[in-house]
Amino acid sequence: MAKIAINIATGTLQKEEIIVGIDLGTTNSLVAIIHPDTKQPIALKDIDNTVLVPSIIHFGDNEQITVGNEARNYLESDPSNTIYSVKRLMGKSYNDVKSKGHSLSYNVIDDDTDRLVKIQVGQKFYSPIELSSLILKELKHRAEHVLKMNISKCVITVPAYFNDAQRQATRDAGKLAGLEVLRIINEPTAASLAYGFGTRNDESSLIAVYDLGGGTFDVSILRITDGIFDVLSTNGDTYLGGDDFDRVLATYFAEKIGLTHEELSIHKSMAQTLRLKAEEAKKQLSTQDQFTFQIDDTELTITKNEFESLIKPLVDKTIDSCANALKDSEISKAEIDVIVMVGGSTRVPYVKQRVSEFFGKPVYDNVNPDEVVALGAAVQADILAGNNKDTLLLDITPLSLGIETMGGLMDVLLPRNSKIPSKAGRQYTTQRDGQSGINIAIYQGERDLVKDNRRLAEFALTGIPAMPAGLPKVDIQFVIDADGILQVKANELRSGVSQSIEVKPQYGLTDAEVESMLMASIVNAKEDIKIRSIIEASTEAEQMIQLTENFMHKHAQHITEEEKSATQSGIVALQQSIEAKDKDQILTATEKLNEVTRPYAERVMDVAIGEALKGSTI
Ligand code: AMP
Repeated sequence: MAKIAINIATGTLQKEEIIVGIDLGTTNSLVAIIHPDTKQPIALKDIDNTVLVPSIIHFGDNEQITVGNEARNYLESDPSNTIYSVKRLMGKSYNDVKSKGHSLSYNVIDDDTDRLVKIQVGQKFYSPIELSSLILKELKHRAEHVLKMNISKCVITVPAYFNDAQRQATRDAGKLAGLEVLRIINEPTAASLAYGFGTRNDESSLIAVYDLGGGTFDVSILRITDGIFDVLSTNGDTYLGGDDFDRVLATYFAEKIGLTHEELSIHKSMAQTLRLKAEEAKKQLSTQDQFTFQIDDTELTITKNEFESLIKPLVDKTIDSCANALKDSEISKAEIDVIVMVGGSTRVPYVKQRVSEFFGKPVYDNVNPDEVVALGAAVQADILAGNNKDTLLLDITPLSLGIETMGGLMDVLLPRNSKIPSKAGRQYTTQRDGQSGINIAIYQGERDLVKDNRRLAEFALTGIPAMPAGLPKVDIQFVIDADGILQVKANELRSGVSQSIEVKPQYGLTDAEVESMLMASIVNAKEDIKIRSIIEASTEAEQMIQLTENFMHKHAQHITEEEKSATQSGIVALQQSIEAKDKDQILTATEKLNEVTRPYAERVMDVAIGEALKGSTI
């Protein structure tokens, strides 16, 4: 039902429900809408005129919860009750977080029941989903306050490398905050939309989105064809950002005033002062050629050139990532049409200069780099509200999705890099006579054997009426929606029994894991192909043995003793070849058994046809 609202610009009544776009960031979050009059995206401000909501939550006495700028004040004074960087924990297990080796000032614990990480605050435990929902609630309140209307629908952005579990966790956080998440979209896609790319139907272009924030860096290569977005590749470092610029700068200042690293680690307040001065210097040097300040009676000066040589190794790393992203997408630098800059740290002129030099083109930087993702989310929200029907958003699956078949083989239904949303289906059947159920185990990965892939879920299709092996037709459908959430449906077509499952993986995969899974499939490709061919030959051979035995039993009166014993020896030889796991031996033994059974099989069939004809009237 449409809601009555007041137009924020004119104060007049309007009758549309507004869908908001949300950038739920590691450091900062914000909410944006399409202005009802100008039709341009705008980020919503609070009373203090600030757009960014620091993604920080503080739990005070009497369970008083504060979010944003106010919570940030407690980072130093009450670190164990002040939660930041929750986005890094979304959809992650304790082991994922622990293996990163980056310490957090609050307490992260594992929970045996669901293996997802929890955060301890006082006597209470919170999931990253609950914590993120508090940030989303804050953004929802802000939007409701500014727009003077109820807000119930949104679009939320996530990094392109987020896997299914992380996307689902983000969606759940929205739900918990009382928001219907109409779509989860990739941050680079949103940034491109904010610049208007992909909103016209006729264009085709290749875009590089360079996103350097406070604590994370990623670069994505996108292809837009007829309004459809494809993420061709992403690369980056989830622990590299403007905070590292501050760190190298603070260390430089410390050295200038003669403080060693050890002294600084003891002298906490001095370290904090230097870090704050470093950030101030960095920001000033984005527009000035030098920065001077006073510390303990010493005057310190840093020039833009000195700053640039300090951060050069860090910027070099990001440029290496750009090269890797291009390599993975098999796109040359010259083919990239547009480079979009995202994240507060792209304000540093040296960063822009290096990126521009690398791609050999000027970069797009005129939209505020802190807001560009949220503004793009608002553009997408507007499209979903039906205001721009031409644009469709599409992404890809990072790993193949499939099910386990006989012999533990992976049968891929949606290959890696499949466009989403998409669907795929295949028919399977039973192995045993009268089999009343089949297990459907869903896996993600590139290896031929499911044991080497990642198990996502399993369910059973039961209640199949008794039928001979091979007769039931079990149709399995994989449907992956625009958010990358997978639904698997199994339907036995003869009886109509069906079952389905929505895959919410128990804990997330890291970028590095996706990469190592891909590497493992390449390294083991030869061996995997060999094992697969042996398993396939063995499965076929086993089926043949069963069919032959059934046939002999059923038509015993038409088969001679000699044929029976030759068949028996053929079966034994075939069984031995299966045990020997030798593909050529299996194929030879299968052929031999075929030669023995063919003459009497044909004879029995002739008899059967003759009898059938006798009984029929032509
Ligand atoms: P984001 O995560 O995108 O909000 O980016 C935050 C980062 O951008 C922090 O490291 C800020 O210090 C940095 N930043 C913000 N403004 C500037 C500026 N004018 N020059 C350089 N870095 C900036």
